[in-house]
This record gives sequence, C-alpha cells and structure tokens, in this order.
Amino acid sequence: MPELRKDPIIGRWVIIATERAKRPHDFQAMHDTDDEPDCPFCEGKENQTPPEIYTIRNSNTGPNGPGWQVRVVPSISPVLRIEGNLDRRGKGMYDMMNGIGAHEIIIETPRHVANIADLEEHQIANVLNVYINRIVDLQRDRRFKYTLLFKNYGFVAGASIIKHCRSQLIAMPVNPKRVKEELAGSKRYYDYRERCIFCDIVKQELDDKKRVVIDSDGFIAFAPFASRFPFEIWIMPKEHSADFINTKQEKLLNLAMTLKVSLKKLAKALNNPPYNYILHTAPFRVPIAGYWKTIDYDYHWHIEIMPRLTRIAGFEWGSGFYINPTPPEEAASFLREVEI
Ligand SMILES: [Zn+2]
Ligand SMILES: [Zn+2]
Ligand SMILES: [Zn+2]
Repeated sequence: MPELRKDPIIGRWVIIATERAKRPHDFQAMHDTDDEPDCPFCEGKENQTPPEIYTIRNSNTGPNGPGWQVRVVPSISPVLRIEGNLDRRGKGMYDMMNGIGAHEIIIETPRHVANIADLEEHQIANVLNVYINRIVDLQRDRRFKYTLLFKNYGFVAGASIIKHCRSQLIAMPVNPKRVKEELAGSKRYYDYRERCIFCDIVKQELDDKKRVVIDSDGFIAFAPFASRFPFEIWIMPKEHSADFINTKQEKLLNLAMTLKVSLKKLAKALNNPPYNYILHTAPFRVPIAGYWKTIDYDYHWHIEIMPRLTRIAGFEWGSGFYINPTPPEEAASFLREVEI
C-alpha cells in the first residue's frame, strides 16, 4: 500500500511508493551534454565575464585578473535587474512592481571542475563564506527582502552547457512563496508549542536514526520523512539557528564536509545525477510593526538537496502532491552504506 505522508512544516503531502520501491540502479542516468570547450569561468578568462563584485583573492593580485579562489560576477542574463525603483502598483485587482533585484554568479573554483563535491573541503568552506558575505552585503539594500542561493548541477537541473561549478543568488523584493510557507508553518508550531519545529525534527531524526545519512559535528544530513524526490537530502545545523549568516567561521568547515560527503554519496550511488540545491534562511528583517517577532526562535536555516531522477508531471502540477518512488528510509540506508 502506498503511503501518504505529510510534511510537518508546510503541510504538503507526498505519496511514497512502498511496494516496488525504486533502488539506485532503477534510475536511468539522464542524458547530459558535452562540455563547452571555451569556458568563461576558468582562471585567466576574467575578461569574458562582467567585472567582479566580490572575490577571495591571493594577495598581490589585482581585480579581474588571475589569482582568485572564489569569484562573484553579475549574471549576463539576469532574471531581475539591479537598477531602478520598485514602483509598486495595481491594475484593477492585479498587483505588480518593477523587476528589481540582483542576480549574481558565484564561481566556486578557478579550475575547470564540474561538481562542487570534487572540491577540497576548505575551498567549499570558502564558497559558503562567500554566500554569507553576499547576503550581508545585499541586506543593506532596502529594496530587497530575500536572497535565494541555489545551484543547478547538470543540464537536466537547469544548468547551461558550461560545466564549471558555480552557484547563483537572486536577491528579490518579495519573499518567495516556498519560504513564506515555511515561515508561516514554523511560526504556527512555535505559537502552539514554544519550540522550533526544525529543532524537533533534528531531535527526532537523531533518535530514530533510520533517515539519517550523516551525523557530523554540528550538522545532520537526512532524508526528510515526507521527501518529495528520491534521495532528497536536507542538511541542518543541530543547534538552533534562524539565519545562515550567523554561522560561525569555525563551523563552516564541518558544514563543507557534510555537504561534500552528501553530494559525493549521491554521485557515487546514482551515477552522477543532476541535482539542485537551495539554501533556505531567514528573510531580511525589514522592520514592519507586528512582523518577524519570533523568527529568531521559530525558524531554522537548512540546505535542501534535490537529485533530479524523476520528472514532475501533470499530477504534481495539478495537485501540489509529489510522487516519490523511493521511501526516504531506504534512500538513507543506501546512502549511509555508499563508500566514498
Ligand atoms: Zn571552466
Ligand atoms: Zn531550531
Ligand atoms: Zn526549506
């Protein structure tokens, strides 16, 4: 009998197939394209991108030349534009505003490496540090409410054909719907129980153990109870923390290790699948009376890793339900056993 499971945070239902559950070898590798030979993100090609916004560079090197570790540049095809005013307005019942925002590309290594999982831990920690720096900087812009950090790995996951590992951020003037749902759900739980729902999830997963993939110093990687996708993994700090930017420097290396091992295990178990990951953290706390009073207590940042092994079809689009052919308990058990 398939099982309907409810995500405790936002109340989304998923259908978990329990019979004939799909195992790693049941997923066909999705076709990927060949690499583009002329990569604008490699060291030495700095003049092929717009001028850099932020870098971690070696001393004695100048901007927009070689000698960097992580480099941030504006997107050449931005989803939202940085210049201008929001000009909020309505037309009859319809609301709109100008498409103002920031869209940046975080180039994660000067070398031509495709998967962030193949970088050294200290280099991944550099990348995470750049995430923090960019969010802190963009927070100063009062037009923005949220910065979404995400990665597309592999053509199927929405990446372009250039396989140089990078992530993207989009700072936006509204809070994304998914984040709002989480904020509302965690506030509801907090109002009722005076506890953070994510902290309760961490505790229960560490007790249960069957969905845990990695239990590291300070972080947990686990397959969520109501996973939408086969082999979905969430990474969370074990200690309560609403805002990713408050992560201490000394913890970034452990987070980098947890992220690297999670992605390495996925690559090994599933023949290098395309994936997306996203960082969900607290929104910018623009002071509006009555808003965000308990967010520091009720919200908890996390990274959601979504391997792209199945396609979303009519039923998902129409219902908001997801069909997941691999129970998260089995996914976690496979992933625990994968040696990397
Ligand atoms: Zn490259
Ligand atoms: Zn918490
Ligand atoms: Zn989330």
